[in-house]
Amino acid sequence: MPAPPAPAALLCRTGRARGRHGCCATPAHAQSAGVQHSARCMSLVWRSGRPHRSHRMRRTTQGVERSLSQRPVRHAQLPCISCLRLREWSGLHVSSAHGRDGISSDSPGLCDRMDWTSHHAAPARPGPSEMSRQIVVIGAGVGGLSGAVRLARAGFAVTVLEAREQPGGLASEASYDGFSFDAGPYILLDRPGLEWSFEALGLDLTAEVPLIGIDDVYEVESPDGSKVVFYSDVEKTAGGFEEKWPGSAKPYKKFVRKMERISRALRPMLQVSRPGALGLIRSGAWLHAPFLVRSLAAVLSDSGLPAPIVEAMAIWTHVAGQTKSQAPSPLAFVPALMHSVGPYYPKGGIRCIPQVLEQAAIAAGVRFRYSTKVTRIRTKDCSVLGVETERGEFIPAAALLSNSAALQTYLQLLDAPAPALTKRLSTLPLQSPGVCAYLAVRGRVTPPYLAFKLGEGNQRCRLLIRASLFDTQVVDGYVPARLLAPMEYAEAERVGPAGQASYLDQLLEEDWWQRDLDDFRVLAKRTAEQWGTQYHLYANSMNPVMTGKFMRQGRVPHRSPQVRGLYLAGSSTHPGQWVSFCAISGILAADCLIKDLN
Ligand SMILES: Cc1cc2nc3c(=O)[nH]c(=O)nc-3n(C[C@H](O)[C@H](O)[C@H](O)COP(=O)(O)OP(=O)(O)OC[C@H]3O[C@@H](n4cnc5c(N)ncnc54)[C@H](O)[C@@H]3O)c2cc1C
Repeated sequence: MPAPPAPAALLCRTGRARGRHGCCATPAHAQSAGVQHSARCMSLVWRSGRPHRSHRMRRTTQGVERSLSQRPVRHAQLPCISCLRLREWSGLHVSSAHGRDGISSDSPGLCDRMDWTSHHAAPARPGPSEMSRQIVVIGAGVGGLSGAVRLARAGFAVTVLEAREQPGGLASEASYDGFSFDAGPYILLDRPGLEWSFEALGLDLTAEVPLIGIDDVYEVESPDGSKVVFYSDVEKTAGGFEEKWPGSAKPYKKFVRKMERISRALRPMLQVSRPGALGLIRSGAWLHAPFLVRSLAAVLSDSGLPAPIVEAMAIWTHVAGQTKSQAPSPLAFVPALMHSVGPYYPKGGIRCIPQVLEQAAIAAGVRFRYSTKVTRIRTKDCSVLGVETERGEFIPAAALLSNSAALQTYLQLLDAPAPALTKRLSTLPLQSPGVCAYLAVRGRVTPPYLAFKLGEGNQRCRLLIRASLFDTQVVDGYVPARLLAPMEYAEAERVGPAGQASYLDQLLEEDWWQRDLDDFRVLAKRTAEQWGTQYHLYANSMNPVMTGKFMRQGRVPHRSPQVRGLYLAGSSTHPGQWVSFCAISGILAADCLIKDLN
């Protein structure tokens, strides 16, 4: 059923092209309106009512057209965002993402949340030659956004359909009681991957997303209260180990150096879509093939380090909800990355990354339709025809790039899934996003940034994220923090939403994370089931667990071997799960598409 018509208002952005990405100049009157001189601004142009064909268009700036009847209503500040060479999509309507009547010129972040509701006045159908360039991207997660930018820059007409009201998926912004949080991710462990992605999209990472280096990175506390502490400085970390476990500094540094060497040799493999045997041979990475077939447990046990250090190094696999023996060996690269490149947190949060990518996509001409859920991928003779949306529209496309989870794409969206594929995908083990509480805390907040607590027996770990160490938000003396805990997928499903909620309540009662605090308020809670429904996950899971076996099989291919015109990006495709990897995956998937269609 088509949704009832939303109030029509036409919104477009204009800006004078400047610099490499064409960011707009700050207009003089914006400064008088209280906008900082350093802020990069753009005009919002608004007109109520439906646009009429008779409205003449005139060229206002290079590459920008706007209707004569539009009037500027305000200048919006866009910190850390350039790329404002924008294009108006006439004939498309915009409604408030929140479904309010009309659009208030005072709506915060209005310019960032456009919901193109074309069902009021559908744009003219593209002709056959135009049709061959029409691409639909399903989902505006990091993978979908990077793919969309890449495709638009290659000359395709790209429309992103996103079920939520904002970009970023799991890496988007979550706001509660005046505080802004990262919904899911909290640390960037792979700066080189993100740099590579931004460069591939013609963006300068450090200019767009200022990164703060994290020195005091994390501690892992055992149930008996003993702690293993990691700093970005390898000497300081090894020194701490030496004090507690004499003789451990040297093997730790040796292990880190070895992992650094291997990770550097294998990095080019992350930047190709199917790093098969030939790629391994050509790049010389085959020398490390024996390393790749081992498990994380085997690699860590070779280090000869004491068990508490090994357990603390493997914490990233606890967080992903898998055992050390299931986990792939490359997870042992984390200490190497931490000590060579360093871990980072973007000023303004990880949520800035999708926000910057969304702006770059708009600047490249990508159309966004938020609150638009794809319910079906229509195919004929194993070729993509287009997608159907929840509103009952059919949107034709020459090709699709799906950032919806690969399992969702194949098992739930595709109209005719191949039985063999269905069987294989449905046996993959899934990863639960676990439970999370968004907090406002008052009291002494001291480093390290991340405090992990190992559970008793078979219990999973918990994590306190001391967000305020890098985040300057203060409301009535309270600062933001997050408490989260992974859950085993089968256990999360077994106990259901009520059991997940009571597990989270239990964690909130625990003493270890509250020790230095005077007070705290729970602003919001999210169970695994809520992650699933609110972020449109497949079966309340983030993706298949990144087991060694799944990684060696190459994960889900970017170019569908079953359906012509279907490409996949995101955490279940190569190279994987981290925000940086998802950005890379979008580019690799887009490159497959570009190669096939050009
Ligand atoms: C609690 C938690 C902590 C994490 N910590 C870290 C960390 O510290 N560092 C790190 O690097 N990574 C971390 N991650 C992982 C990282 O956030 C994700 O892997 C990454 O953001 C996933 O990006 P993606 O491109 O695969 O898509 P997603 O973020 O899953 O986005 C997919 C988008 O597609 C949309 N969509 C899905 N189906 C449809 C449909 N049918 N129609 C329209 N739209 C649809 C969804 O609404 C969503 O917006 C964490 C994740 C979680 C949950």
